[in-house]
Formats: sequence, C-alpha cells, structure tokens
Amino acid sequence: MKTQVTAAALMAALSSTADAGRRQADPADGAPALATYTDQLVYGELWDRDVLSRRDRSLVTVAALVANGRTSQLQFHFGRALDHGVTPVELSELVTHVAYYAGWPVGTEAAAELASVFRARKLSVDAADPELLALDPDKEAARKQSVARVAVLAPGLAQYTNEPLFSEVWRRPGLAPRDRSLVTVATLIATGQAEQMPFHLGRALDNGLTEPEASEVVAHLAFYCGWPRAFSAVGPLGEVLKARQQPATPEPPAELTVTPRAEAPHFSGPPANFTGEVEVESLFRADLDGDNGGGMVHFQPGARTAWHTHPRGQTLVVTAGVGWVQQEGKARHTIRVGDVVRIPPHVRHWHGASAEQAMSHIAIAESVDGSSVTWMELVPDAIYRAEQ
Ligand code: MN
Repeated sequence: MKTQVTAAALMAALSSTADAGRRQADPADGAPALATYTDQLVYGELWDRDVLSRRDRSLVTVAALVANGRTSQLQFHFGRALDHGVTPVELSELVTHVAYYAGWPVGTEAAAELASVFRARKLSVDAADPELLALDPDKEAARKQSVARVAVLAPGLAQYTNEPLFSEVWRRPGLAPRDRSLVTVATLIATGQAEQMPFHLGRALDNGLTEPEASEVVAHLAFYCGWPRAFSAVGPLGEVLKARQQPATPEPPAELTVTPRAEAPHFSGPPANFTGEVEVESLFRADLDGDNGGGMVHFQPGARTAWHTHPRGQTLVVTAGVGWVQQEGKARHTIRVGDVVRIPPHVRHWHGASAEQAMSHIAIAESVDGSSVTWMELVPDAIYRAEQ
C-alpha cells in the first residue's frame, strides 16, 4: 500500500521546528495548486515510480536537502528515510559524506537535525572507528593520478582529497560505495556542480548504480532542487552514458579484391559520344564505399570522345600510344605513356588518340547522382585536326 503523505502531514512534520508557530498556516491556503501537485504528483506518483526504490529516493532527497541547507525539511525526510529502510548509521554517514561535497556548515546543521530525530526515535549510532572497506587498487591509482594535477596548484586540497576523503571516508562501511556514489551525485546535482558530475556519475555506475537509476535520480531531483539543476545534469549524464556504451562489434576488415582483366566489362564507345573506333574496359565503378569509377579506354588512330564535362572532374593516365587532349578555347596537348591529365569539374574538353597513333588511357572520375559525365556534340575533324 502506498504511503500517502499529504501536504497537511508535511505541515505536521514541520510543526516541530522552532518556527512552528509561523508555519502552522496550511500551505494549501497559499498555493493550492502546489499542494495538489505535492499530494498527487510528488507523493502520489514520483515516489512510487519503480525505476528507483523508495530507499534510494530517500537517500537522494536527503542528500539534496542537506547539501542545499534545507534544514526545515530535514526532520521530515530523515524520518521518512528511516521508514524506507535507511539505517541510522547510513543517515549518519550520509550527513558526514555530504559535508565533504557541500561543506561543513550544511553538514553540521544537518547533523543537529539528525540528532533530534534519533532522540525522538530513541536511536543512536556507534562513534567507534570502523574497519575500512578495501580499495580497488587500479581505480584508486587512476583517481590519484587525476588528483596529482591539482597538487601543483593546491597541494593541501590534493592531500585532503587523498587522505581522508578517498582513503577513509569513501571506505567507511556504514554506507555502501554504491550509496555513497548515489549521495555524491545527488549532492552535485543539487548544488549545480556539472563540472564534477562526469567523474562521479562514472564512479556511481562502477559502484553498481544502474543507468536507469542514474537517469531517475535526475528526474527525482527536479522536484527537490528545481528543473534547471536537473536539466544541467542531463548533459554530463549523456556524456557518461555515451562514453560507456560498448563499442559496436567492428566490421571485419574488408578483403581486397582482384578482378581479372578478362572479367572487366568491355564495350565499344557508342557513336553518339565517340568518333572512330573506341573500346572501353570498365575497371571499377562508383559504389557504396566511394564515388570513384574508372575505365580503360582504347582509341584507334583518329578516334576521340565527343565534347563533354565531368561534374567532379576527371583524371587520365596514359597507358599506351600517343594521344591528344584539349580544353575548349585552349591549345591541344599531346599525351604519352605515363602522362597524367587532370580535368577540373565542368571544364568542356575532349580526349582521344592522335591522328596517326592509337592511345589508351585509364580514366577515373567521381559520380554525382550516379553520373560522372555530361556528353555534348561530337568533335568535328576541323577541330580535331586543327593546326596547333
Ligand atoms: Mn573526359
């Protein structure tokens, strides 16, 4: 059965504080809509969302209230935490822990409130030094290394961070490392310490907090520290979750392929686009891995392309014979074995054999929307054979 906590009950809880007289007035008279949201949304829904246990919600809520110095709310939530199964020792450790992350003043005030709850419930905690939990040496070495950077500027801070914060406080057995992490993350969110969140969110996940629980902590704290603080935590949370995603199983490296020359598609240069006897060997085609396509073209003497352009340009490598290439309005070039011709995008040109000798070249061009060439009119003899 749900434990319904009405706004009126909340008021009753608060009435034990010193300024009870002033607070006797029912908040529902001041902000009835807030009272309705408190009853129906916060206590009628939020605390019952099953992704985070009530015990965890109490740890998170108390940590946030301690961190932000919301002393007047503490007695009620300390009591609620005890009702949700948080032990007196755990609350005591929480207050001590949060003092490190939000400061001694709020820690000390919270300790006094906790003492009065203990007194009212006839509870106490043992003051003896406990046996400390073991450290994970690898993680501790990595953490120490990050503190070493601080040591140059603030050696005292680095010293106290190592001893006692991480070598002692975090190892006290009264609050499990996972719960210390939960409390630390709640404190950072509550106090808007986005810069420190990635380290502690990562540590929390290492310490056993699940990703859905971490997300729910952010949602829960929107109600206890306000929407802006919660939203400021979403970015760091996203970074941490992304960084921890298992990398997708890498594709096995593609194998190189050899296509025997005999298997290359052969065809005659169509008369619409070529003059004379032209044989095209398709070498490779643009495919999913790239836009490049290549072909070997053999021009018999006097054979040549029509005028044309390439949307991404073209590279020609002469592999046999002697040929000619010409850009419109420019002098014709003679090209020989090993010569490389680079044709810029959209430049109108033709290429082919010379009048007396055959020529072969490899032609490589990138496709745009599946096409690597725009064909135009044939090159008449008067231009092909023009005196240079
Ligand atoms: Mn071309």
